[in-house]
Amino acid sequence: MNLALHLQDLVRGTRIIKTKKELEKSDFWTKEQLETYQLQKLQKLISFCYRHVPYYSRLFDSIGLKPDDIRNLEDIQKIPVLTKEIVRREHANLFADNVDASSRKIKKAKTGGTTGMPLAFYKDSQTRDYAWGAYYRWYNWMGIRDGDREAVLWGSAIVLKESWQQKLKSHFVNRISNTLFINSFRMSEKILPSIAEQLISFKPIILRGYLSAILQVAKYFKEHNLSLPSLKAISSTTETLLPIYRDYIEEAFNVKMFDQYGCGECNGMAFECTAHKGLHVNEEHCLLEILDESGNYCYDKPGRVILTDLDNYAFPFIRYENGDSAILKTEACDCGRSSHLLKSISGRTADVIYLKDGSSVHGVFFTDIFHELGYSNFEYFTRFQIYQKRKGDFICRLEKTSKDLPQKEKDKLKEVLQKYGEHVELEIVEHLENDKSGKFRYIISDIKD
Ligand SMILES: [Zn+2]
Repeated sequence: MNLALHLQDLVRGTRIIKTKKELEKSDFWTKEQLETYQLQKLQKLISFCYRHVPYYSRLFDSIGLKPDDIRNLEDIQKIPVLTKEIVRREHANLFADNVDASSRKIKKAKTGGTTGMPLAFYKDSQTRDYAWGAYYRWYNWMGIRDGDREAVLWGSAIVLKESWQQKLKSHFVNRISNTLFINSFRMSEKILPSIAEQLISFKPIILRGYLSAILQVAKYFKEHNLSLPSLKAISSTTETLLPIYRDYIEEAFNVKMFDQYGCGECNGMAFECTAHKGLHVNEEHCLLEILDESGNYCYDKPGRVILTDLDNYAFPFIRYENGDSAILKTEACDCGRSSHLLKSISGRTADVIYLKDGSSVHGVFFTDIFHELGYSNFEYFTRFQIYQKRKGDFICRLEKTSKDLPQKEKDKLKEVLQKYGEHVELEIVEHLENDKSGKFRYIISDIKD
């Protein structure tokens, strides 16, 4: 891993290794130390934005805010929340006037907006340093050392044609970083034995990748009594790690899973430690606020995620509402780290399903139904998705496995779901697609309130 990181730092002009070392020193800082550090970074960012980012200079002037008015972390509440709509509208004015967009240190990125239209923005090398530095610090938390063998189950619906130079480059990077990359898109019963064989002979220390891919491999391992004794940790990305999935995978591989949280606009926001009580906020990089309906800070109950990337000076995100909902815990973690714990990242705030009696429920409601019906072994489907177009009606989509869901099971599931929906449809599909931002959403609602 280290050699590949050195190479990345060299080619892309980042300082990930140096930042990782810095973050290792602050890993067990006290709450006061972390807050002092955050305040220093915040004050620096705010005064930079006032001088160099047209949107913020105008905004601060309009509300009569001077950079010196930010004296403590709570003062950040004086700044209005930045919505996706503002980012779209003020796009050009959010780019710092002293940054060269064509520099190799500036990376153009995009993410899904609320209307499904991608939102473009920029990241400087510093924000990547802190996100990736924390990411690799997290490897230490999981007991992974530099250079340990890593297997990645990855895959995309869009297969990009790679040039021979690109192929050579990725082959080289995979070799020096000790990574086995397995393209797992649309895994079938046919290729599962060969994937299992590759994994067993590679003896990975860590396994990561798409949740659906890991689930299928876990299922194959379980059914064939296979094991990966070398494995120390598993981590899944892009999809919400629901407890039913976590339990199944942990049992199949006899190893713990470690969750992480980030979004396109701000990577590396929170990571799970060995205490498995929640995800530690990457406080050195991200100032996270959770707000209730009336805009007040809330703890120990779900609220809107408002983030400030303390490191992106190219296209600063200050008090940005990314649309997710999560719980910030007041409880301290057993591991001794004093950073906040984040719990239940439930994806989009708006994604609730309206039942026929008029009540609304979050996705966990359906997870519990599947669990109660005994579908936690993923025999007939790997993932589900509930899609709602009209209140009271919904479609339940199931991503099929090689085994067909028997008619008897279909009837049983439909009967249960019909208790909650007027018109309920069951759709068995080959593959459930991720949304435009690359995230898998198991609850999709077209209802706008
Ligand atoms: Zn912890």
